[in-house]
Amino acid sequence: MSVVYSIDMILDILFPKRCINCGKFEDFLCLNCKNSLKVVGFQRCPNCKNKNFCGKLCDKCVENFYFDQLILCFLYDRNTVLQKLVVNFKYKFLRSINEFFISTLENQFSKFFYDLNKNVIVVPVPMSREKMRLRGENHAKILAQNFAKKLNLNFCDALWRDHREDQAKLKRIDRLINLQNSIFLKKEYVNCLNDKTVVLIDDIVTTCSTVNECSKALKMANIKYICVLALARGH
Ligand SMILES: [Zn+2]
Ligand SMILES: [Zn+2]
Repeated sequence: MSVVYSIDMILDILFPKRCINCGKFEDFLCLNCKNSLKVVGFQRCPNCKNKNFCGKLCDKCVENFYFDQLILCFLYDRNTVLQKLVVNFKYKFLRSINEFFISTLENQFSKFFYDLNKNVIVVPVPMSREKMRLRGENHAKILAQNFAKKLNLNFCDALWRDHREDQAKLKRIDRLINLQNSIFLKKEYVNCLNDKTVVLIDDIVTTCSTVNECSKALKMANIKYICVLALARGH
């Protein structure tokens, strides 16, 4: 038994795990609430939403985007359980939620991504320095690091983000203008990502404008293929 696990077991006895949704003493999420999360079984074109199994942009839409594929884990549907999980992950950082997210990301990725090879690099959606100061952590980065470690892939924090107004507070059209030229490739990576495939990790994707801006910046380094992997797509 490792030291970490025995400490976990003692903590479990002193502070039994409660479901973050209904409060039942069982686990961080009881079986009932866990079952209410709908895992995406069929991905769609991220733009026109036509079903196409693996989430690639269809022939009609692909020209307007810089990335190639979007793989989602959960249906959002304003699911309160998922919202609570994400909030608890962001503000309390529960290790069990992190593990649950990573294993779901891994399952969905292995189901819908076909070209796993040594040229695959994991990159997180960046957070501006100002927002980092407020939040303390970039959670997309934590997910990306743990995901890369689990799958034994290279991790690269290749992008940086200029501070702009909070996207969530803006209307759709203002979001697009707000984002323009706000995400950049770090200078040190300009010449070393040539011909690589990137798995770009985010927690909740909304309009795809952020991941598209990231992809635009990544394409400056001659990236071959970009697959966005996220927990869910919000509204
Ligand atoms: Zn519950
Ligand atoms: Zn389409």
